[in-house]
Amino acid sequence: MARPIDLESIRAEFPILSREVNGKPLVYLDNAASAQKPNAVLDVMSDQARTAYANVHRGIHTLANETTEAYEAAREKVRAFINAPSVNEIIFTKGGTEAINLVANGIAGDIQPGDEIVLSIMEHHSNIVPWHFLRERYGAVLKWVNVDDTGALDMAAFEAALSEKTKMVAITHMSNVLGTVTDAAEITRIAHAAGAEVLFDGCQSGVHLDIDVQALDCDYYVLTGHKIYGPTGIGAVYGKAEALARLRPFQGGGEMIEIVERERLTYNEAPHKFEAGTPPILQAIGFGAAIDWLNQFDNSDVLAHEHAIYQKAYDAVRGINGLRVHGTAEGKGAVLSFSIDGAHPHDLAQILDRYGVAIRAGHHCAQPLMDHLGVSATARASFALYNTESEVDAFIEALHKARGMLI
Ligand SMILES: *Cc1c(COP(=O)(O)O)cnc(C)c1O
Repeated sequence: MARPIDLESIRAEFPILSREVNGKPLVYLDNAASAQKPNAVLDVMSDQARTAYANVHRGIHTLANETTEAYEAAREKVRAFINAPSVNEIIFTKGGTEAINLVANGIAGDIQPGDEIVLSIMEHHSNIVPWHFLRERYGAVLKWVNVDDTGALDMAAFEAALSEKTKMVAITHMSNVLGTVTDAAEITRIAHAAGAEVLFDGCQSGVHLDIDVQALDCDYYVLTGHKIYGPTGIGAVYGKAEALARLRPFQGGGEMIEIVERERLTYNEAPHKFEAGTPPILQAIGFGAAIDWLNQFDNSDVLAHEHAIYQKAYDAVRGINGLRVHGTAEGKGAVLSFSIDGAHPHDLAQILDRYGVAIRAGHHCAQPLMDHLGVSATARASFALYNTESEVDAFIEALHKARGMLI
């Protein structure tokens, strides 16, 4: 039986949500930047460190074995979370950014000048800059696919962007600015038909959607811990076994090798081949706990709640004079980006903070998208499982006040 979305009991598990900011109850609407963490996550990391901590793998002693077991159990949780066929296809990284760098670096040796990488205009800089490195250093060509007026990916333009030169399609599964959810299965189908590999940036979708990498048939899928109620400093990348067998290791060091001699070395098997050095052990265990925590709920209940909260906010802001919402694609996630004529997003965010309301303002690490939207920044309220309708009311009330002060 799935746990019901009982907001009082859920919020009680997030100690930070009961604090005040500037004398007002905190209204945390910056979840797309980082989500808060429940006791289940905070406690597991602290308990592990207090009771059974040592370095992982190669250990003979009890603590090393217990820590390794907990670390590898977290890998299994990530595997199950995205329905990957094998734990050997789950590589822990220090976040979403490192995961994408790992893949981009890993294919760099295969890039010939003129090889193409296809990106969408709504990518996060994390899924742009590593590919720019391949352009700068190896002569790869970046091809950009636009979104339409609602923020939906232009699938005809996507198909047209592919050629026999396309090596990689790297596209978000859910935009951190527009909330757009892309048709990942269809993107994979089209990319594979053109002979290209596919990487999905799942840093946002991981917490909102039910992910099944086998159904998507993608080659790589990227997750980050801190946006799914887990700690910072941990992420993961799923890679198909065949893709990982070809992929070169990104970093060298301990654990990723088999034999090291003066003039020769051989590598360990995946996933260890890609996890050089001591990994973020406690963070990986916290990531696993976050997945367990989220798994208590039925994903469709979570989505329905987040959607209802988003819809309430959307309906309310639409009535505000001079306010424009960026991203209205069908099936979008609970991210509300907007601009108000005559009010700078930074000023809005600063005034909202005085009322205890945390939103984000800026380019959201998506400058090509800002360019496309014709703005330098937007204001963004992003919603999580623990947000309530009365928090939306507080946000809207503060927004009206802020607008009144600025315009
Ligand atoms: C946050 C985010 C990233 C970067 O992930 P980190 O774990 O913070 O490095 C990449 N892509 C998207 C869409 C994001 O929202």
